[in-house]
Amino acid sequence: MRQAEDELTSLEEEGLLRRLRSLNPGDAPFLLLDGRRIINFSSNDYLGLARDEELVAAAQEAAARFGAGSGSSRLICGSLSPHHELEETIAAWKNTEAALSFSNGYAAAVGTLTSILRRGDVVILDKLSHACLIDGARLSEATLRVFPHNNLDKLEQLLARAREKLPAGARVLVVTESIFSMDGDRAPLAELVSIVERHGALLLVDEAHAVGVMGMRGEGLVAELGVQEGVTFQMGTLGKAVGSAGGYLAAERRWIDLILNNARSFIFSTAPPPAQVAASQRGLEIIASARGRRLRDRLWENIALFSRIRDQKSQSSILPVVIGENEAALRAAENLLKAGFLAPAVRFPSVPRGSARLRITLSAAHDEDQISALHARLQTLP
Ligand SMILES: *Cc1c(COP(=O)(O)O)cnc(C)c1O
Repeated sequence: MRQAEDELTSLEEEGLLRRLRSLNPGDAPFLLLDGRRIINFSSNDYLGLARDEELVAAAQEAAARFGAGSGSSRLICGSLSPHHELEETIAAWKNTEAALSFSNGYAAAVGTLTSILRRGDVVILDKLSHACLIDGARLSEATLRVFPHNNLDKLEQLLARAREKLPAGARVLVVTESIFSMDGDRAPLAELVSIVERHGALLLVDEAHAVGVMGMRGEGLVAELGVQEGVTFQMGTLGKAVGSAGGYLAAERRWIDLILNNARSFIFSTAPPPAQVAASQRGLEIIASARGRRLRDRLWENIALFSRIRDQKSQSSILPVVIGENEAALRAAENLLKAGFLAPAVRFPSVPRGSARLRITLSAAHDEDQISALHARLQTLP
């Protein structure tokens, strides 16, 4: 039998061993590590809402009123009024007929893909799609095809080929992200929508890193580009810019009804706790408000500053510094940490082999001095 120790040793030898680090939050963007204050450049809390007092108060009130736990899955007796209110808020904000919330984005992706796809269907994913999308596609047992990152010619070929031998009634679904989680670049959504429409396929867009950051009311890139009509499934997480935790799917009512009947990650899992749901609700309200707009403006000022001083084009709050080898990326991260900056090395399988990187993320909570200091330190890396 394979020994766990041997597997751990080989991970260590490849520079792929991961370890947990115990951290304490300070005021955003600070963290406390072994009592030392460091500046966090790795969080997805892009607007600094995770520690916001309004979100914390909403969570406290909901816990006091509804209890710490939901008691069961949504379909048994766990469907409390905060869950319904959150889903109405998401649907109104995304301008869709309905929405369904999940415990996290991972569960939303797996639940959605396995609910709408079955054997005989075809699912076509961008090569850099997040693990939860890949896992959902695999679990669905649909035929899985991958197109090179943002390569629409290849996508078009795959769509044409899929149609040739598709059984009657079978579905073809294209899956992509609006902002890619490890590269921070954008999908060419307008072109993608028209290709998908031309081929009569369905489209799922994961907006995990665009929500809160893009769109007039922080709805994401789909809304910013005005292509909602062409996106069948708008999926995302409430655990990044929204500052809480949870996942959602926004779509037409018939799809939502189907998914809530089929999604095993929804049906066989306890409903998210009221405190989490209430914090998400408050986070979304802030994101859609004038205050949300101001936070977004701050964030984009920071992004503009970082891309100017580093002469690096940026399309989002994710700014990767690609290093290559695992060991070199680990050393670079260690070097930054010594200087008081947290930007851990991201390695395979989060990114392709040979492209280990520091995944720098900016937030509205950073200031100019912190960003300049990070840049200066990055300049000194070997
Ligand atoms: C983080 C992430 C998810 C998962 O969301 P969680 O709420 O953290 O489970 C899904 N898709 C993408 C692109 C992500 O970056």
